[in-house]
Amino acid sequence: NLDVKVPVTTRDELGSLSQSMNELAHDLKRYRINKQEFFSNVSHEFRTPLSYIQGYSDALKKGFYKDDKEHQRFIEIINDESHRMNRLINDLFELSRMEEERFPLELELVEVENAVNSAVAKIEATAKEKDIRLIVKCDSDIPHIAADAFRLEQIFTNLLQNAVRYTEKGQILVEVNAEHGKVKAIVSDTGKGINTEYLPHIFDRFYRVEKSRARDHGGTGLGLAIVKQLTELQYGSIEVESQFGKGTKFILSFPEAKEGDE
Ligand code: ADP
Repeated sequence: NLDVKVPVTTRDELGSLSQSMNELAHDLKRYRINKQEFFSNVSHEFRTPLSYIQGYSDALKKGFYKDDKEHQRFIEIINDESHRMNRLINDLFELSRMEEERFPLELELVEVENAVNSAVAKIEATAKEKDIRLIVKCDSDIPHIAADAFRLEQIFTNLLQNAVRYTEKGQILVEVNAEHGKVKAIVSDTGKGINTEYLPHIFDRFYRVEKSRARDHGGTGLGLAIVKQLTELQYGSIEVESQFGKGTKFILSFPEAKEGDE
């Protein structure tokens, strides 16, 4: 039996106490709904590749295929889907670690341009295959920022992979400049763009504008959630602007490193 003494004296205090209890109850309810939604999304995301793997391996086992070509195609599907499951597990695991406060980051003084260039090198070949022009424009004398070089590059790699994924032909431009104590990096593409009504959701876990199309591209739906977490962990912020049919622009902003940030 807990003897809790709540020092409530006036009607006002009683009113504000009941209001905060209401808010607490509301937060708790939202948390439960979010949790439920999250687990239902996770199971759905895993169920899809698993059902492919089960279906096609059953067919192989029972010899239900026309010829060698179909046999090979079934094997490839099983292989692709198991890779997808692997990516999903890795992304989910990383994201859950990032959402905890003790995610390890090796902060040092880094140049954003270096991270951009390493990320660009990774997607160059795919961009070329799709006939996409890749341009990097960095102002000179950009101040350093305090960041984890590997994690900063991961942000640009994810954004650029998306830009390539959702652009046909066209152009991808990365600009780096500095103003008012901030280093800004802007990744823009001339791709399919995102309808305004979907923009507020694109950083949510598993959110995709076109579920099946995005799935065909091999994405896990966690890329932008990871980008946002990583940006904020490194004291930055991210915004998105997009015009449907015209292209998308992600604007990252990081505070300039101050003396003693090393
Ligand atoms: P995915 O693995 O599906 O790419 P992300 O979290 O990286 O997941 O992105 C979420 C959704 O946002 C994508 O499914 C896509 O609909 C949209 N999106 C992200 N980047 C772009 C872009 N550069 N151009 C158009 N749509 C984009």
